[in-house]
Order: sequence, then C-alpha cells, then structure tokens
Amino acid sequence: MEVYLAQPRGFCAGVVRAIEIVERALEKYGPPVYVRHEIVHNKYVVESLKAKGAIFVEDLSEVPPLAVTVFSAHGVARSVEEEAAARGLPVLNATCPLVTKVHNQGKRYMSKGRTLVLIGHAGHPEVEGTMGQVPGPVLLVQDVDDVAALTLPTDAPVAYITQTTLSVDDTKDIIAALQAKFTDIQGPDIRDICYATQNRQSAVRDLSKLVDVILVVGAANSSNSNRLREIGTEVGVASYLIADGSELNPDWLKDAKAVGITAGASAPEVLVDDVIEALRRIGPVTVSVLPGREENIEFRLPAELTAG
Ligand code: SF4
Repeated sequence: MEVYLAQPRGFCAGVVRAIEIVERALEKYGPPVYVRHEIVHNKYVVESLKAKGAIFVEDLSEVPPLAVTVFSAHGVARSVEEEAAARGLPVLNATCPLVTKVHNQGKRYMSKGRTLVLIGHAGHPEVEGTMGQVPGPVLLVQDVDDVAALTLPTDAPVAYITQTTLSVDDTKDIIAALQAKFTDIQGPDIRDICYATQNRQSAVRDLSKLVDVILVVGAANSSNSNRLREIGTEVGVASYLIADGSELNPDWLKDAKAVGITAGASAPEVLVDDVIEALRRIGPVTVSVLPGREENIEFRLPAELTAG
C-alpha cells in the first residue's frame, strides 16, 4: 500500500511554544505546575506533561495559592486573568501570539465604536477567550444563516474577526454574507489568518488528489483536526479522524491502494508514526512525504522562562 504524508502536518509554532512553556516551567519551578484547560487539544501531549508533573484544571479555583499557573494556547477571558491577578497566582501565558493578535484586533475595532462579529464555533475555548477579552458584547456567527439572522441595521458600523483555526476557505462565504449585508464593515487583512491552519488545509487538499482514504491524526475535540477531516470528506475522499494507530479500522482500507495521512496542529509526529506502524501490521507499505510549503515560524517564549 502506498502511504502519502501531507506536508505540512502536525504541530504549529503556537503549539510548540505552549508545550515548551509548560516543560520549561516544570524545569525552572519544579512540579507541580498548574495548567488551565488542556494546554493543546491532544490527549497524548496532556498525558506526557502530566507524567512530568503538570496538573490540568478547568477552573482557577482548583489551583492552590501561589502555584505556578499556565494559560493554554487557546487564550482566556479577561475575567480569568483578573481572577489570577486577584489571587496573586504567578502566571505564564501560553496563549498563541496569533490568538492574542485576534484579541487585539477585536479591541481595536470596538474602541472605534464598531459592533464586533466573531466568526467561530460556540463553546470552543478560543472563542470564549476572545469574547471575554474584548470590552463589550460580541455577536458570534457560525454560518451564513447566523449572518442572515443578525438584527443590526444594515448601515451600522460593524467589524468581524475570526477564530484562528478556521481558514480563509472556511470563512469566505460567511465574510461575503457579512459584506453583502452591512454597508460599513471592516475586517482584518486576509493574510492575518493563521498560517498553520491555512497551510494544513491546503496540504490535505493536495493529498486528497492522490489517495483513496485520508487518516487525520488528531483529537476528537480539536477544531482544526476535525476541519481537516471535513475537507477530505468534502472533496470526496473517505476521511477518518483517529487519535492514534489503535483506532485504525482495517475495513476502511479494504479497497484502498493509496492512503493519505495528515495531522492536526496539536497532534505530535509520534502519533503519525504510530498510525504508520498500525498500517504496517495490515500489510507492506511504502511511505512518501508530499512536497509542500515549508514552515519556519517560531514564536518567542515568555521572558521569565528564557532569562538565565
Ligand atoms: S493553529 Fe495557529 S493560532 Fe492556533 S496555536 Fe497554532 S499557530 Fe497559533
């Protein structure tokens, strides 16, 4: 069986940075280090950090006084920052700089008196963080129907921002609907969208041209991994989201000559290797990596972790 690996796939710079913040905090301050929410949406990553002494909590009330606390890559609302400050918790903020950029865009639009529309998934921690970072109400839209349901006057000053794990392709219909509905609307430059989301989605489209089945390595609660699987399905290739090789179902591959593998931004390469091993247990495989866009983006760590 031919196996093609999408390029790029897996970890993005924001995820690399977030994991490194927890690891360095454990080294510098010693365990335990508390992490609010899964640092990134991947069980393997979370379990490995737990083994090193990280404790994951959903609410700051679970963090004991003065314990080193890390905010996850998805970002948090201001109320969470304020609660941590009020309790005097030493905080390391692992919010991806691209998520922070979206927060800042939202604040800027609001300070200019615009009504803010956020394109994103209800309940996702990044969306909750973004809605809680801007000082005013945010209208959340998930699809074009939500845009149609907005009751603002059509000449109201409006601005939109987007969840980072949606790509240009995901948002273009919603943005077009907003632009058609409102006469005074602003939004960020299209180049501001998360590079990693866009690159992984383009790579899965390229992959889909060569394969009969696509396996997306990622967690069930990972927004960007789900989107990769949806894209495979949309272009007509049977696509499955699996956490690791143990979830591979041989029935999926019965008529497949070529299998494609990609991985969400929070899925480590070791899990891709695990899936390849699971394929090898079914039959001989030849693995090729597709040519793709090279990524060399790195985000700086917080100063308190780099100072010697
Ligand atoms: S997917 Fe994009 S926004 Fe999200 S953590 Fe990675 S680089 Fe940051």
